[in-house]
Amino acid sequence: MSEQMLEILGKYWGYDSFRPMQEEIISEALAGNDVLAILPTGGGKSVCFQVPAMMKEGVCLVVSPLVALMKDQVQNLLDRGIQALAVHSGMTYREIDIALDNAVYGNYKFLYVSPERLRTDLFKARLARMDISLLVVDEAHCISQWGHDFRPDYLEIASVRQILGPDVPVVALTATATPQVAREIMERLGFRKENLLTGDFSRPNLSCLFRMTEDKMGRLLRVCQGVEGSGIVYVSRRKGAEEIAAFLQRHGVSAEGYHAGMEKDARSRIQDAWKSGGIRVIVSTNAFGMGIDKPDVRFVCHFDMPASLEAYFQEAGRAGRDGKEAYAVLLWNKSDILRQRQTLRSSYPSLDYIRDIYQKVFVFLGFAYEEGKGASAKFEIEKFAQRFRLNARSAYYAVKYLEAAGYWTLTETLQVPSRIQFTVSRDDLYRVQLGSEDTDRFVKLLLRMYPGLFTLYVPIDEEKIARAGRYAPGVVGEYLKQLSRRQLLKYIPAINAPMLCLHYERLYEKNLRLPRNEYDERYGRSSARLEALISLVGNDSECRWQQMYRYFGQEGGVPCGKCDVCLSHRR
Ligand code: ADP
Ligand code: MG
Repeated sequence: MSEQMLEILGKYWGYDSFRPMQEEIISEALAGNDVLAILPTGGGKSVCFQVPAMMKEGVCLVVSPLVALMKDQVQNLLDRGIQALAVHSGMTYREIDIALDNAVYGNYKFLYVSPERLRTDLFKARLARMDISLLVVDEAHCISQWGHDFRPDYLEIASVRQILGPDVPVVALTATATPQVAREIMERLGFRKENLLTGDFSRPNLSCLFRMTEDKMGRLLRVCQGVEGSGIVYVSRRKGAEEIAAFLQRHGVSAEGYHAGMEKDARSRIQDAWKSGGIRVIVSTNAFGMGIDKPDVRFVCHFDMPASLEAYFQEAGRAGRDGKEAYAVLLWNKSDILRQRQTLRSSYPSLDYIRDIYQKVFVFLGFAYEEGKGASAKFEIEKFAQRFRLNARSAYYAVKYLEAAGYWTLTETLQVPSRIQFTVSRDDLYRVQLGSEDTDRFVKLLLRMYPGLFTLYVPIDEEKIARAGRYAPGVVGEYLKQLSRRQLLKYIPAINAPMLCLHYERLYEKNLRLPRNEYDERYGRSSARLEALISLVGNDSECRWQQMYRYFGQEGGVPCGKCDVCLSHRR
């Protein structure tokens, strides 16, 4: 068996040995056992389900929370010659229908699904007819109310299991789970038997330094000047990202700011430049880092204290993945603690406010009472807030609260290209009078640039078409809309926004259930995660790593010898 595992690993991934724990996890999956694996970020979790999936008959079903990560993984598999496809909320009903059909009848090995699609009738009906080899739950902490990123859609996985029956094993994966969260994951996923495999989280190459200081700028500059190589500076506010990057630039440090409010092109340009070493330091909000796979980050500096110990651990862990000397520096002072407690309070607007936002969202999307069930629509919080003159942050937290309560799902900003497909045959297309030479020329250009338009939805790029045909900007879209009105083709314009997926019809005020005790519990759990970090910051008598290990339920181990606490003890 293990020979065969290695052979698959070499054949598709080109690696000649397994990383720690990978083999154990794969063996569990092959033996048909449910397993929860806790491996550090970058530890190689994907291989743990991809290898056994390649060794089993049938399709491997993967639930993953972010569409961007999902698309990366699908592309990655396709690049290795493995058939994979994804179903997410940026797709039309018809596209999802076709994709699921392919998963039933086609020769696919992997089907990635975003969690809010699991509950749809369409998905459930098709699932029953699929030959599923493995059920994979990536970022499995999202199923836990105690975790730092609870997504109620993950609870739907329990009913997916019911449909699949007891013979399909579950492989659940995460990088952060306290013992309590781990137990909750296994219970909610209906594990037939508790089965937890935990990797080694020790990072002997990573020096963890906490610095209480009133002069954060000066400290930061010393870190950037004192440590060579690439670095990440985490800040809490978008504006801070730009200001601090400018400050570093003025002092001769190669640095750029990065945050979710920037243009997409600028973001990917900066990210690429940083990855290739063209920019040394990236100053970012926590929008940066998910799915970034750069092994030679020499330091991560937290300029502001993060909102939970989980977040700190994830972000600090991005330094030194290559095993070479690296630093995680946290700068803090009393006002960080006050600010984080304040931020936490303001991220829980009052229940009355939340109830009001609930109704406004439906008004914004144009749904009357008892309408809207199952609909998805673009939803940009800034536009919503503008329309009703709301504070965008408070409105956002209210929308997120309603998400946690299960009423809807707000996705990340989806980036889905435009797609077209001809709805008439090639012969018919030539038979109908296109009307003018201009239209004729346009259609010929389309057919030349995108073969296959008669059989499939094909992703297109309006700008590229405009360049190739020397059209003015906007003209291409007009042509496409015109052809679509004449029912010669289907045109789905690009999405570049978050989507709001509504799970229920709009309820009357009196029927909206938002119990006070759930609100208090949720607040209490967020507060506990923040206080865990605050007490870690304040405890300078015990090795930082040992404190974190205890929180995450790892065996104590010896003091690391290089965190600020260990260093001060040595002195
Ligand atoms: P995680 O999901 O745990 O954060 P990934 O699955 O994304 O990590 O893997 C991180 C990187 O490690 C990827 O580039 C992956 O190809 C690589 N990797 C995984 N397993 C091995 C292995 N056995 N040998 C070498 N590289 C590996
Ligand atoms: Mg992963």
